[in-house]
Amino acid sequence: MKFASRLVQFDAAPGDRFRPTATPIYQTATFEQEHADQFGDYDYSRSGNPTRKVLEDQVARLEGGTRGFAFASGMAAITAVARTLRTGDEILADIDLYGGTCRLFTRILERSGIRASYADAGDPAAFAAKITPRTRLIFVESPTNPLMRVNDLRALAALAHNHNALLVVDNSLMSPYLQNPLALGADIVVHSATKFLGGHGDVMGGVVVVRDEKLAEDIYLMQNGEGNALAPFDCFLLLRGLKSLKIRVDAQQSNALAVAEFLAADPRVERVFYPGLTRDPGYARQRQQASGPGSVLCFTTRSTEAARAVAERAKMFQICVSFGSMHSTISLPGCMSHASVPPEIAAARQLPPELVRVSLGIEDSGDLIADLDQALSQSIPQPTDRGLATPLAEDK
Ligand code: PLP
Repeated sequence: MKFASRLVQFDAAPGDRFRPTATPIYQTATFEQEHADQFGDYDYSRSGNPTRKVLEDQVARLEGGTRGFAFASGMAAITAVARTLRTGDEILADIDLYGGTCRLFTRILERSGIRASYADAGDPAAFAAKITPRTRLIFVESPTNPLMRVNDLRALAALAHNHNALLVVDNSLMSPYLQNPLALGADIVVHSATKFLGGHGDVMGGVVVVRDEKLAEDIYLMQNGEGNALAPFDCFLLLRGLKSLKIRVDAQQSNALAVAEFLAADPRVERVFYPGLTRDPGYARQRQQASGPGSVLCFTTRSTEAARAVAERAKMFQICVSFGSMHSTISLPGCMSHASVPPEIAAARQLPPELVRVSLGIEDSGDLIADLDQALSQSIPQPTDRGLATPLAEDK
């Protein structure tokens, strides 16, 4: 079956004798056992719950993995992966990474003697040079958040395997509809399900998908042993949202392309970061390893003040962290989603403070472009023949 069919054609309630067409919320902590010394399929919801199982199996299928695990948030999912490491092990991560992931790796894992180092995964020689005999995980996003750099996932998988390490790909920005990292050689895929999998901005969740059964057992040990699995109601919301993944992402991506082209042609905008634009450095690779560029993009204005003003004056774009919702949002990664990056890493990353990130929703593209146009006009003086005009009176 094609992806669109697989999103809705699955057993929503395995073993349920009433044959509901939507997955029931099995809101129960415990399951009665027939015998004291024999467990049924389920005994305790921390260890396993039917609503969660349907979600986990469905995401695993969509990602082309063998097993999936649902957690209370994307960070809980990434933490479960990191918990498979031991003291002395190391993580090598791409330098352009979600701020919370960076905080986990650097400020939390180091307390357990796990060291993270960072390098530009887009520079293969420099990145490979950072691998040590203790490197166990290579962790990347693609495209990266927020600079939308496209990493060569096949090459990174080969690099990891040559050094006895695993490649973990955070696929939150793409969703399984646009990219399947396991098929490109990755060992573990993680998602902030809060983003595209849920798609409605009304649920937090995280998912880990693996192919290898031994790895699956280890992730399950963390999920059951640490008790941070996703609750049944939240699993239900994710299952509900997931069914419309393709039509949502198609609409959002087509809006992103229209907005990216508008911004790229606008002299008030310095640079657009979006691998859907033919002149973007990641364009060709994105076409090779994913089936679309997605619906998140960034652009720089000429100053931090202008970036803030654009965000505040755009009426259709809610200022908020996160992305992937059906509603368009706008943010300044430097002071929002990536503010948690430890200062020493932030200095090495050189994230432009005037960077604006937008996540396109399903609204009308003409309305969105008109709104950004008015926000830019209000915030950035029109360039003249002699350079920039004097700022608008209210900006002084
Ligand atoms: N990965 C990426 C790429 C993210 O952008 C985020 C959150 O913004 C996370 C992981 C963390 O997910 P959550 O907020 O669901 O914990």
